[in-house]
Amino acid sequence: MEKKGILVVVSGFSGAGKGTVMKQLLDGYPNRYALSISATTRAPRTGESNGKEYFFVSEEEFEEMIREGALVEYARYVENYYGTPKEYVLQQLNQGKDVILEIEIQGALKVKAAYPDTLLLFLSPPSATELKSRLVNRGTEAASVIESRLNRAWQEAQGVEQYDYFIINDDLAECVREVHSIIQNEHARVARNHEVIEKIRAELKGFAKGE
Ligand code: 5GP
Repeated sequence: MEKKGILVVVSGFSGAGKGTVMKQLLDGYPNRYALSISATTRAPRTGESNGKEYFFVSEEEFEEMIREGALVEYARYVENYYGTPKEYVLQQLNQGKDVILEIEIQGALKVKAAYPDTLLLFLSPPSATELKSRLVNRGTEAASVIESRLNRAWQEAQGVEQYDYFIINDDLAECVREVHSIIQNEHARVARNHEVIEKIRAELKGFAKGE
């Protein structure tokens, strides 16, 4: 029986290392997972290219996507729009891939409201001090942007209880293994297996009658 994939949202403070963890997860299990590429109005960072990390679009283009209903969700984050294009996500789920959305909390809660089966994971560095030093050492943002991101992290920390799992990213390889095993265990939940359970029940009923 064809099984649909699980929609997985991964959030975490800017600097939690979500990008690296997700990259390793996809490299390690390329047939299991698909990573959704978001659209954003923020400018590309050095080394980022269009269609790889994000689809970099103008405000007008982004607002057009909103009007057309082409986004699963969108949010404003530190002055910019970020949103998840719908078509790719639905197509990959139908092909049985677990689709990962690496998005912030407002978007995560919108996805959960629209698709209640969504698994919500929250990734955190081991401490707030570590978070700050990762943001500073990344060296890609101005001091004022780092400050906004730390403020935002404080706000996001208030919403962690809305997530299903809280995962600390201390050792990268271990974190990747943990994320993978949480998602794979999720496939075994009774609530996600109604169809196959019903099918086996129906077959058993047939056998019982023929006793
Ligand atoms: P960054 O600018 O560091 O790439 O991303 C800033 C924040 O936006 C991160 O928390 C990231 O997870 C989030 N983000 C990226 N794509 C999306 C999206 O499609 N929707 C929402 N709601 N947030 C996103």
